[in-house]
Amino acid sequence: MAYVITEHCTKDEKCVEVCPVDCIHPRKEEEEEFAEVSQLFIHPADCIDCGACVPVCEANAVFPLDDVPAEFKAAIEANAQYYA
Ligand code: SF4
Repeated sequence: MAYVITEHCTKDEKCVEVCPVDCIHPRKEEEEEFAEVSQLFIHPADCIDCGACVPVCEANAVFPLDDVPAEFKAAIEANAQYYA
């Protein structure tokens, strides 16, 4: 299982700052893609399911895979596709 970022993401990078395994991208300072994407994405294989990104997200955009609301299900594939 992994966590998933949904379309309410505001790209404030609060989650990036707390993720212990650096599995949230793109990063504003290091990756050109940051300006082009509408949201950040979690690497589905690298995420260790620690949950640290959830409480720091002021947009409530991050969910455990099994709890992604129905209207945001497409985000599951979108997160994985970013790293494909
Ligand atoms: Fe990173 Fe933990 Fe969030 Fe996974 S659950 S994206 S490891 S902070």
